[in-house]
Amino acid sequence: MATNKQTTDTDTPRHDRDDDSGRRLPGPWTRTVGELTLSYLPDAGVAMIPARVYPSSTEEDWRPHRHHLTDAGHLAMGCGALLVERDGTRLLLDAGHGRISGEDPEHFQHAFDHVKNLPASLASLGVDPSGLETVAFTHLHDDHTGWARPDAVEDPRSLFPDARWIVGDGEVRSGDGSGERLAGGFERITTVADGAEISEGVRAWALPGHTPGHTAWILDTGDGRRIVAFGDAMHSPVQVEHPDWEVVLDHDRDRAEHSRRRLVEYLARDGVFGFGVHFADQQLGTVDGTGRWRPWTDEQDAR
Ligand SMILES: [Zn+2]
Ligand SMILES: [Zn+2]
Repeated sequence: MATNKQTTDTDTPRHDRDDDSGRRLPGPWTRTVGELTLSYLPDAGVAMIPARVYPSSTEEDWRPHRHHLTDAGHLAMGCGALLVERDGTRLLLDAGHGRISGEDPEHFQHAFDHVKNLPASLASLGVDPSGLETVAFTHLHDDHTGWARPDAVEDPRSLFPDARWIVGDGEVRSGDGSGERLAGGFERITTVADGAEISEGVRAWALPGHTPGHTAWILDTGDGRRIVAFGDAMHSPVQVEHPDWEVVLDHDRDRAEHSRRRLVEYLARDGVFGFGVHFADQQLGTVDGTGRWRPWTDEQDAR
C-alpha cells in the first residue's frame, strides 16, 4: 500500500484490488522489456469527472466504457514518472505531480489518492534523485513537472539538483514564464527537435496540440520493439476509440486531434507499444486489430 495517503472522499479509486480493471490507480511496477528496465513511479492518483475531462463526450458515449469507470462513475488517473534504465544509464520521463493543494479551480478532478509518493517510489528502487542526470518531459503541465519545479523541495534546485531538463521545441519561450516552471530555468533546459536522439535508443517525437511543444519519447527496446511514452496525447484508454474527443486542457484542439490520430495509427503497428501515464492500471499496452487499447500481458514480458 502507498504511504502518505491523503484521501478526500470515500469514492477515491483504490489501487489495492487484485484485478486489471482499467479503473484502479496504478501502484509501482517494474518490467524488463528487451534491453530496458522500465519502472513506473507513482506520485499521485486522481479521480476525474469524465464529461468534464472530455467536454464533447456525452453520457451515452460513456455507456460502452462503463468498465473504465469507478462505481461512482469517475475515471482513475495516475500521475507519476517513468524510469528508463539501460546498461546502467538512467533517464526519467516526467517528474510527477509534486505538491497538491487538493483544490481544483477547473472542477474536473474529484479526489486525490497516494499523494506525493515519487521520492518514496525512487527510494524503494534504490535510486538517489541527486544522481539522476537527465529528466525528459512530455510537456510542462504541473502534473508532469512536479518534483522538478523550483518549489518542489526546500532546495531550489528541486528533487533532482544536478539533472538537465529536456523538452521539445516550442514548449518553452522566453518572456512568457514557461522556462521558470522548471528549477534553474533556461540554464538547465535543453530543447530538442522532432526525431532527436537524447540517449541511446530514445528519440523525440513531436506530437503538438495538447501543448505547443508536447513530445512523446520513443524507446527502442533493442529486441525489435518500440515503446512510446506519449504523455498527454491521450488521457485514458477510451480515447484510443475516440481520438476526436478533446481534453479540457488541450491548447490547440485540431492539432491535438491530428497528433492523437497519428499516435493511434503508430500504436496499431506490429511491435509498437504505448505507455500512457494517465491510463489507470493499463498504462502499458497497444492498439489491437479492432482499434481498441489492449493492456500489456505477462507473456509480452517473457517474449
Ligand atoms: Zn497536460
Ligand atoms: Zn497530464
